[in-house]
Amino acid sequence: MAERRVRVRFAPSPTGALHIGGVRTALYNYLFARQHGGDLVFRIEDTDSNRFVPGAEEYIIESFKWLGIKFDEGVSFGGEHGPYRQSERRDIYKKYVQQLLDAGKAYIAFDTPEELEAKRAEIQNFQYDASTRMQMRNSLSMTKEEVDTLIADGQQYVVRFKIEPGEAVHVDDLIRGDVRIMSDILDDKVLYKSADELPTYHLANIVDDHLMEITHVIRGEEWLPSAPLHVLLYKAFGWEDTMPRFAHLPLLLKPEGKGKLSKRDGDRLGFPVFPLEWHDPKTGEVSSGYRESGYFPEAVINFLAFLGWNPGTEREMYSLDELVPLFDISKCSKAGARFDYQKGIWFNHEYILQKSADEIAAIFAADVKAHGIDTTIERITKVVEMMKDRVSFVSELWPLCSFFFEAPASYDEKTRKKRWKDDSAQAMEELASLLEGLDDFSLETQEKAVHEWIEAKGYKLGNIMNAWRLTLVGEGKGPGMFDISAFLGKEETVRRMRKAIEVLK
Ligand code: GLU
Repeated sequence: MAERRVRVRFAPSPTGALHIGGVRTALYNYLFARQHGGDLVFRIEDTDSNRFVPGAEEYIIESFKWLGIKFDEGVSFGGEHGPYRQSERRDIYKKYVQQLLDAGKAYIAFDTPEELEAKRAEIQNFQYDASTRMQMRNSLSMTKEEVDTLIADGQQYVVRFKIEPGEAVHVDDLIRGDVRIMSDILDDKVLYKSADELPTYHLANIVDDHLMEITHVIRGEEWLPSAPLHVLLYKAFGWEDTMPRFAHLPLLLKPEGKGKLSKRDGDRLGFPVFPLEWHDPKTGEVSSGYRESGYFPEAVINFLAFLGWNPGTEREMYSLDELVPLFDISKCSKAGARFDYQKGIWFNHEYILQKSADEIAAIFAADVKAHGIDTTIERITKVVEMMKDRVSFVSELWPLCSFFFEAPASYDEKTRKKRWKDDSAQAMEELASLLEGLDDFSLETQEKAVHEWIEAKGYKLGNIMNAWRLTLVGEGKGPGMFDISAFLGKEETVRRMRKAIEVLK
């Protein structure tokens, strides 16, 4: 058989915000498509109208735009295999449902929810399958006339897949190997509902994978139980030759390592589980997103790429493009991947280190401006150069750096008690005069002059520096004192010192 062009798809249902696990699934599909020179299709699986949430589709598209994951075709991207929204493909599915009915591989069933409920009460572990279907009201147990009359009367029905027992079903999974189950454990799944004239997930998913020429189905582990049914459907249609290969990705686990990661874990521990902030249109609830929390898209990608796979090297920092040739779907782990959100924060910190001061300053400038500070981008960049190594998020810079831009409005009590001695006011007055007298206020000149003065007077270096810090910063934090004073300049340095002496003495 000729090699087929690799085609994969990401096929979310627009039922709300895109969960971070879905982002990882899309990322792995993207890496796989790129490394094989194939296509990535974006399909919207919206056949369950009860679960449709307005805005979800747009949200998903915006998420991938932010992350830099590009699709080759699909909803909003166009392509030759459209429409890519399942709700726009009703007629296609009807045709294929009819095909299964005509071939005797599916049948019509009239059982009402009440009748099914009654059966469940009557038979323990009831399953609608070969062992029970003849006791039910369907086109196998009824005459053709009865069936036609019910349909003509407008009775609602479903179409069920007729699963033959005794068959070993093999799922060829790139991560899990040959997954084998017996068809007996499967029930006669509903494929279509006359009530809304729509197929169920299973039928639409298979028909579309076939028509869209999908070669590999890469998706979350939660879909593994559906895979045998999907294999049987491919066979029932006679499409074995183009059956996609499967890869069911490991589950994302709670940070503690046990149980499936949920939104509640994020709320409990304070990390986002969605790429972008999400405003639930029904409840009005707002959920945090990685973007709004100050993560770089590169950091999120890097973090997610390593949840279930790694290149087997010491190195951890990889761009999306660098991941493409390295990614290996067959090396994904079968075991769940612990969602270590601290590692996500670590990655963001590493990206701050990696980015230039100019890049960070361009972002930080908005915070500075929002605090009513009128300054130049050059000065902001200087501060960023001194301080960016200390933060994991740009938003952490302002609380750490505000003293560079505004004089302390008060002096931290604890620091004052510890650092401001009886002779501090006198020493600071001497230091202020010394600094005032310097013609050259460069870091080097200051450092030399101050050290000479300390030595000549027999002062303790530590005491001087601590008191000085309190006058300029208002508390005990910040970089080296000469970095601060050189940045502030002579006038501002001396002004802050004299004011502190006034207040603290
Ligand atoms: N619509 C399914 C979902 O929401 C797609 C599952 C699959 O990829 O087959 O994840």
